[in-house]
Amino acid sequence: MHEFVTLNGNLREPAREPHAQANGHGPLVFIQTYGCQMNVSDSQTIETMLSDAGFGFASRADDADVVLVNTCMIRESAEVRALGQLANLSALKKTNPSRVIGILGCVAQAKRKEILDSYPYVDMVIGPDSYRKLPILLEERRITPQGTPGLLETTLLRDELYDDIVPRHHGGVTAFVTIIRGCDKFCSFCVVPRTRGRERSRPLPSILREVEMLADQGVRDVMLLGQNVDSYQWEGRDFADCLLAVAELPSIHRVRYMTSHPSDITEKLLRTMGAHEKICPYLHLPVQSGNNRILEAMNRPYTREHYLHLIELARKHVPNLALSTDVIVGFPTESDAEFEDTYSLMREVRYDTAFTFKYSERPLTKASRMNDDVPEEIKVARLEKLIELQQQIARERNLEQLARTTQILIEGPSPKDAAMWTGRTPCFRPVVISRNGESVGDLVTVQLKTLNGFTFHAERTPH
Ligand code: SF4
Repeated sequence: MHEFVTLNGNLREPAREPHAQANGHGPLVFIQTYGCQMNVSDSQTIETMLSDAGFGFASRADDADVVLVNTCMIRESAEVRALGQLANLSALKKTNPSRVIGILGCVAQAKRKEILDSYPYVDMVIGPDSYRKLPILLEERRITPQGTPGLLETTLLRDELYDDIVPRHHGGVTAFVTIIRGCDKFCSFCVVPRTRGRERSRPLPSILREVEMLADQGVRDVMLLGQNVDSYQWEGRDFADCLLAVAELPSIHRVRYMTSHPSDITEKLLRTMGAHEKICPYLHLPVQSGNNRILEAMNRPYTREHYLHLIELARKHVPNLALSTDVIVGFPTESDAEFEDTYSLMREVRYDTAFTFKYSERPLTKASRMNDDVPEEIKVARLEKLIELQQQIARERNLEQLARTTQILIEGPSPKDAAMWTGRTPCFRPVVISRNGESVGDLVTVQLKTLNGFTFHAERTPH
C-alpha cells in the first residue's frame, strides 16, 4: 500500500517557523469527522499535532481558517455523506478563498485523484498514515495562495503508529486509545486493509503511558481500539496481556475494547475478561453472516458452528456478558435460505445490540468483482426483518436487567434534569440516578428499577 500526501498546487520546502499570526494566536482549524471510533481517535491525534504546532480550533467551519474533513468509506452511505460534505465546502471556499480545505481518511487514501479532479477547491488530500506532515503542509498552503494547478504525491512510510502522540482529550470520563492500526484480514467486502495498510501493534509501554496521561485528565473508562484487536502482538505480549496491563492501572476504573475477529479471539482473552472486574463484560464480535457459504465468500475464515461455540465459551467465562455484532445482508449471491441462517443465528445468540447493514459494493475489494445480484428491494426487506427481530431482542434483554444490582460510572449531570446523574453500567447501558454528593468519575452501586426507552432509572444500594 502507498501512503501519500497529494496537493492541488506546489509543495515547497517546509516552513521552519510555522503558524504565528499577528494577532497572537494561530490559525483556527475545524475538523469534521465521519465514521468509526478509529477515525474519531485519528482526528484527536491530528488535533494534538496541530495544537503543538500553534493552531487553534474553531467550533464551526465558518469561523475556521482551515477546514479538514476526515472521511470514512467502510459503507457506501458513509462515503456518500463525506462526499456530500465536500460539495458543501465550495461555498466556504467562495466566502474566503484563502481558507484551506483538506480531505483526510480512507476516502482520501482510495480516491485522491478523483477528489482533486472533481473538487477543485480542495487544497490537499491526505491518507491515514501521512498525518504527521499536516502541520507543515497546512502552513505552506495557508501562506501560499493556491498556485499552479497539478498533483504532487509523496509516498511515506507504511508503519505509522502515532504512538508518541496523545490524542487531544475533549473532557469526560471516557476516552479511546488506539492499540493497533491496519488490518491483515482482507474480508472480501472491506476496503480497510487497502486504505489503512497492514497490521502493526503499538508498543505496550506507550499505550500505558497514554492511558495514564488520560487518567490525569479525569478519564476513568478506556476503550482500546483496533480494526482487529485480537491480532495485537508486541514483544511476546498478546491482546489479553495488553488488556490486563491497562486494567491493572490503579487510576482506571474500566477498560473495554473493539473490534474482535472470530478467527483470532482466544479463550485466554475470554478468561482474562471474566477474571478481572475492571474489564467490562462487553464483547463486540462481528459475525457478518450466519451461513457458511456466504462466510467463505466474504473471506471470513470461520464457520457458523465455530462462531456459536465462541459465544458459548464467552458466556461461560464472562458472567452477565453483553454481546454486539455487525451483520451484512444481501451479500452477492445470498439466497433467501442463506439469509434465514443469519436470522436464525441472531435469534439464537440474542445480541444486546446489532449493527445491521445492506451490502454495498466498495471499490478495490474482491467482492466488487462479484455480481451484486441481490435486488435492492430484497436487501431492504431482509434488513427490515433483521432490525425488527433485533429491536425485540434488545427490549427483552433490557427488561432482563431490571432489579439487578450493578455498578455505574458517573459521566455527568443528566442533560434532561440537572438534579440527576447520568452514568453507564459495565455493559454500557445508560442509567440515571439522583445526585447525592458523588463526583463525575465515581463508581456507584445501584439497583436498576425502571426502564424508560433504553435508559434505566436506578437507586443506590447500601455498600
Ligand atoms: S477484519 Fe475484515 S471487516 Fe474488519 S477491518 Fe479487517 S478486512 Fe475490514
